Amino acid sequence: MSIQTEELDALMYIVDRPEIVFVEGQGSWISDHTGKKYLDFIQGWAVNCLGHSPKVLVDAINEQAGRLFSPSPAFYNAPMLKLAKQLAEHSCFDRTFFANSGAEANEGALKLARKWGQKNRNGAYEIITMEHGFHGRTLAMMSASGKPQWEPLYEPKVPGFPKAPLNDLDAVVKLINDKTVGIMLEPIQGEAGVYVAEDGYMRELRALADEHNLLLIVDEVQTGMGRTGKLFGYEHSGVEPDIMTLGKGIGGGIPLAALMAKESACCFEPGDQGGTYNGNPIMTAVGSAVLETMTAPDFLEEVTATGNYMREKLGTLSQAHGFGEVRGRGMLQALNLKQEIAGDISAKAMEQGLLLNAPRPDTLRFMPALNTSREEVDQMIDILTGVINSLN
Ligand SMILES: *Cc1c(COP(=O)(O)O)cnc(C)c1O
Repeated sequence: MSIQTEELDALMYIVDRPEIVFVEGQGSWISDHTGKKYLDFIQGWAVNCLGHSPKVLVDAINEQAGRLFSPSPAFYNAPMLKLAKQLAEHSCFDRTFFANSGAEANEGALKLARKWGQKNRNGAYEIITMEHGFHGRTLAMMSASGKPQWEPLYEPKVPGFPKAPLNDLDAVVKLINDKTVGIMLEPIQGEAGVYVAEDGYMRELRALADEHNLLLIVDEVQTGMGRTGKLFGYEHSGVEPDIMTLGKGIGGGIPLAALMAKESACCFEPGDQGGTYNGNPIMTAVGSAVLETMTAPDFLEEVTATGNYMREKLGTLSQAHGFGEVRGRGMLQALNLKQEIAGDISAKAMEQGLLLNAPRPDTLRFMPALNTSREEVDQMIDILTGVINSLN
């Protein structure tokens, strides 16, 4: 296969992409149109939690595709019911609304919170979110996110999202007023560069929300579904949020997301929420296969063990090169390089057959498949070490 410029020009220009086309993948490996193979530590942006084209998901798709594509969201279908029940069994939440993307699930969460505010808090609608947080790219989610580069874009923004710095409880306290209805955050800020919301802080937020009758909302689009070594990121702190969103990993690479809530927060009435593909049977059948794989014995223990192994190796590499801290949990880790060389490293790594993400100019992020082997972690470290040495 060769690349035709006219084809590239038929896509809207939204980002600089390397002039290669990816054609197939298996496990931790992905190949481009020239046949070159890459060790993939991006995995579709922490999406392919079981690696590229895992058999269990290919089978789930094929089986459901041969049976029923889409009966309309106005009817029940079997995979939708099965996955909702499984999610309720494995989490502290009671009900699920399925969506197609993380941003859409988050929109649903904020609509649910605003509705809850109308019913229970005199029309309170403000949701306190975090500086540098990332919640997706719809207009409202760009407003809820705390990404400085987005501030001048698409004005005017949707109002109602005052911001606090992460891990600063007093800043949240100062923002609470009678218009406040909830607090929303990521258990680990992924796009910001992997900053963990401390367990103590999560517990303090829970207490604060209880004290003021506010909803605690966790955006687990990146941290949910085993990424941190627990099924959901909130489990590390032991708190039970009122609302949670899932995306990315829950579909293992196909578009599936979810909005989950405790019964006490479920206040949508008929007509309030919906969408054409919501609860689509092919997508939810895949979600079940993902969840069943992750909740099988030893799966999550292995994620934790491999995550710790990767963290240790990154720590050794960091010390050897005078870099900074390694941050994160499980299979979501970042390395602070203390210099703005992350873009350079990820470009050179790609030449050497390794896909790595640079969420900040001085930070590399590692988000491989959850079932990545230690040998593959070693291979990643070898290629990365070679790239770093070639910079000097
Ligand atoms: C990726 C991400 C989103 C957005 O998900 P989309 O599927 O791209 O809409 C929202 N929140 C977090 C924490 C994410 O990592």
